[in-house]
Amino acid sequence: MIILVVNTGSSSLKYQLINMDDNSVLAKGLCERIGEDGHMNYKTDAGTVFDHDVPLPDHGVAMQLVINALTDPEHGVIADMNEIGAVGHRIVQGGYLFDKSEIITDEVEAGIEELCTIGPLHNPPALVGIRACKKVLPDTPGVVVFDTTFHRTMPDECKYYAIPWEYAEKYHVQRYGAHGTSHRYVSERCAELMGKDPKDLNIITCHLGNGSSITAVKGGKCYDTSMGLTPLEGLVMGTRCGSIDPTVVSFIYEQTGMPVKEITDMMTKKSGLLAVSEISGDVRDVCIAEAKGNHKAHVAREMLLRSVKRFIGAYIAELGQVDAIVFTAGIGENDAELREKVMDNFGFMGITIDKKKNDCRGKEVEITGKDSKVRVFIIPTNEELMIAKDTQALVEAM
Ligand code: AMP
Repeated sequence: MIILVVNTGSSSLKYQLINMDDNSVLAKGLCERIGEDGHMNYKTDAGTVFDHDVPLPDHGVAMQLVINALTDPEHGVIADMNEIGAVGHRIVQGGYLFDKSEIITDEVEAGIEELCTIGPLHNPPALVGIRACKKVLPDTPGVVVFDTTFHRTMPDECKYYAIPWEYAEKYHVQRYGAHGTSHRYVSERCAELMGKDPKDLNIITCHLGNGSSITAVKGGKCYDTSMGLTPLEGLVMGTRCGSIDPTVVSFIYEQTGMPVKEITDMMTKKSGLLAVSEISGDVRDVCIAEAKGNHKAHVAREMLLRSVKRFIGAYIAELGQVDAIVFTAGIGENDAELREKVMDNFGFMGITIDKKKNDCRGKEVEITGKDSKVRVFIIPTNEELMIAKDTQALVEAM
C-alpha cells in the first residue's frame, strides 16, 4: 500500500509519500507560506525536483499541487492518485477524547474540533488539512494519528496536576504530553535493536529538538513525560522556558500589567535558549558563541544540559530500573557533546558511553560504553513512518 502522510500547520503542509512494501519514501516536500505568497518544495529519490514560489491561496490549492507533482508525467512517482491507498494525518492534540489513532469520520472530525480549545495553535490547521485532502482525494480513506495518544497510559499521579480536581473534571486540565509518535517510534525501534519485547523493557526516550520532551517508557507504555497541558512544560527549549514557578506569570502580570496571553507568548516564543543567550534559539549558534567566551551563551547551554540531566535522573528514580536511554531529534541526534556531558553525570551508576561511537551525527547507532549498566542509543526519529504504519493497519482492518 502507498500512504500519503500529511502534517498541516497554519501556513504550511508537509507531506511524504511512503511505499509500505519496503517503507521507502517515494517523494516528500513542503508547501509553505500558504495564504501568503506561497512556496512549494518537492523531492524524489532523484533529488529536488521543484523548489519555487507558487501562489498558494489556501491548503486546498497546496494539496492539489502536491497531487499534481506526485502524478506529474515527468517528475511524478505514481501514475494516478488512485494509487494512494490512504492518507495519514498528524494531529498534535488528541486530548481527553482519543486514546488511539482513528479512521476519519464526521464524529472524529467533531472531536478534533472540540479539542481546539486545548490545541488552539495546531488542531484548527489540522482540520483544514483533513478537509483539503477530502476535497482533492474524496474516495481515499483518511486516518488521524495523535501526538498525545502514546501518553494516555500515564498513571493518574503523572497525568494530573496537584490542584483541585474540579479543574481536571470541568476543564480537562491535565498533562497530555507531546511528541508521542516520536517517543513511540524510537522506543519500539530501541526494543527491536535490543532484540527484546518492549513489554520487557524500561526505556527513557529523549526527543531533543526545537521543542524537547523526555519520556519514561515502562514496559512499552508511557509512564511519565515532561510536557504537560501544553508543550511549554518540561525542558528548556529553543524559545520556550519549560517548567518554571507558575507564580512567575501572576508576578509579571502584577508588576507590568502585561496581559496573560502576552506573557504566555513571551514564555513560548521569546524565552528558552534564545532569551538566555540573547543570540539564538538554535543550539549550534549558542555553542559557537559559548566557544568564543560569551557568558550568556554558556548559561543557556548549561541550562539545557541541566534540564536534560534532571529529567533523565527523575525518570530513573521513577522507573526504579532502566534498560536503555535513547537520544533523538535535531539536538539528540546531532549534539555529541551534549550526549557525552549528560551521560557523564550518570557514570556513578555504571552508565558509560563510548566516546568514539558517540562522535557521530544523525545515525542509528548504539553508543554504549564498555560494561555499561544501561544501553544508550541514538535513533533518528521517523514520525512519518509511524503515522503511515498506523494508517495502513487501520485501513486494512476496515
Ligand atoms: P528539530 O526540531 O528536531 O528539527 O531540531 C532542530 C534543532 O536541532 C535546531 O534548532 C538545533 O538547535 C538542533 N541541531 C540541529 N543540528 C545540530 C547539530 N549539528 N548540533 C547541535 N544541534 C543541532
